[in-house]
Amino acid sequence: MLHVSRRRSTCLTALLLTLVAVQQRGAAQIADTIYTDGDIITMHGPTPEYAEALAVKDGKILFVGPAEDVKRHAGPSTRRVVLAGKTLLPGFIDTHGHMVYFGKNLVDANLFGVKDIPDLITRMKQQAKRTPSDGWIVGFGYQARVMTDGRTPTCDELDSVSTDRPVLIVDSSGHLGAGNSAVFRVAGISADTPDPKGGSFARKANGTSLLGPMEETALNAVRSKRPPFTGQLADDAITGAASVWASHGHTTAMEAGLGLGNDDIGIVVNAIDKQLLPIDLYVAAKDSTVDETVAAAYSVASQYNPNPDGTREKLLADRPDLDKRYVNRVRLGGIKFWLDGSIDTAWFTQPYTTNPPGKSGSFSGYRQIPDEVLDAAFDTYWPTNMQIHMHMNGDAAADQALAAIAKAVKKHGMRDHRPVFVHASYLRPEQIERIKACGAVPSFLTASVVPGGDGVLKLWGNDRAAVALPARTFLRMGLPFTFSHDAPVSPVPSILALVDAGVNRIAASGVVVGPDERIPAYDALRAVTAMAAYQLKEEATKGTLEAGKLADLVILEKNPLQVDSTTIREIQIMETIKEGRTVFSR
Ligand SMILES: [Zn+2]
Repeated sequence: MLHVSRRRSTCLTALLLTLVAVQQRGAAQIADTIYTDGDIITMHGPTPEYAEALAVKDGKILFVGPAEDVKRHAGPSTRRVVLAGKTLLPGFIDTHGHMVYFGKNLVDANLFGVKDIPDLITRMKQQAKRTPSDGWIVGFGYQARVMTDGRTPTCDELDSVSTDRPVLIVDSSGHLGAGNSAVFRVAGISADTPDPKGGSFARKANGTSLLGPMEETALNAVRSKRPPFTGQLADDAITGAASVWASHGHTTAMEAGLGLGNDDIGIVVNAIDKQLLPIDLYVAAKDSTVDETVAAAYSVASQYNPNPDGTREKLLADRPDLDKRYVNRVRLGGIKFWLDGSIDTAWFTQPYTTNPPGKSGSFSGYRQIPDEVLDAAFDTYWPTNMQIHMHMNGDAAADQALAAIAKAVKKHGMRDHRPVFVHASYLRPEQIERIKACGAVPSFLTASVVPGGDGVLKLWGNDRAAVALPARTFLRMGLPFTFSHDAPVSPVPSILALVDAGVNRIAASGVVVGPDERIPAYDALRAVTAMAAYQLKEEATKGTLEAGKLADLVILEKNPLQVDSTTIREIQIMETIKEGRTVFSR
């Protein structure tokens, strides 16, 4: 037995402890970056949880916790970021947006806010200079009724932009437009061409030549002749949109309707091949047949691909693994159906309180697809990892979705499918119970509250408006829900604007729409981080600041939990970080 003095024993203990500590330090991984001295909100759990420090290594979160403990991950090569009072959150996740569609609009001339026809022509002449000589000169976003001329430009006026190159303008609704003589020539359309069902070409008084303006399916007939985006145009569309998404704090974007345009697939495949994307892009492929009678009433429907599996199959033919994982930042996660229309064409079980313009009698909106189409889709996809996303605003559309899901559950059993109820603007209380039972996740379009809230109050009536986008009800029931912007339906993909709208629900007129459904800022932030990751089935890697998850981060100028909530939308995004790499900084 070795006898040691008390003093020697103490020394030995100290030595051992030092050895252990050295060993631990050796074992501790050295971080690439350490963040300290700011509000680091983990977004984990039902109440705000702050951490003093966060360490990143190899694109993943290495450590979250006390400043004292992060020191063991600091080495000579570690970059130290002092947040200096700024706020660090998990990167924002888009739960319903159209990044590819947005990108195509970016490449076109921006006609939002043009004041009159000469102003519009000036912008289109600038666009002509930027456009490759074999491309169409296209502009998007004017509103004829707010322009001082109060009308759409004519073919003769658009010929002043170019007589030999096609010129096309589309208004902000996407339903109306006009072309020059070259665009009609290329499209093979003259005054003798009969109007397509559900649309019309305006003709000059003599009836022998086209005036220029066109509506709905007539516009689509011309638009569909536009050459697809390839080469530099395809690159610019996707990289331009991705940088806008990153500037609003997104580390994951969405294209929730890929295939609406005939060049969408090419643009995405091009982005994969050339590794163009700095942030992740979750794709839901348009996959729908459409009831002919509805196609005439609602222009989006008429753009549907008649081949129900077209987009999904083409993508998978090119990249067979795209539905399992991200391939160069793109993943095919779902398919998309449109079940009804928008604020003035939502499909309800009860009629509108006030009829939308142009509607008379008992009007309760439109259905888009027959039950059999949706039933068949759930039968096919319910047991798979392909999530079904369904655009719906009215409760009759939600009924159609719930009935299809019930049939799939009966046949295949309960699965972790997480169908996405896109917008889900009005739901009856018992429908929310059924949503709970089947595990569906609504993505509430809170971005619509400011521009659309007054219209909802008037057209849908107080009772439906009071419980529209029922975030508080979902929160109280402990159910997941997310918030979305639907850009370019919202002109910018601002996540903080829709967080603000979910907290305050203030319409453009200043009226609070459905005050009982307002939620705290922390829960609104969860709807674009932790719950958003859950909706995408990516909660194992995204949505909260936890060791082992991806280092997808956003740094905000101020803490949204500490400011006057009506100023959340004004908080600046300082930096966006995707897997440890800065993809945007102010
Ligand atoms: Zn959408």
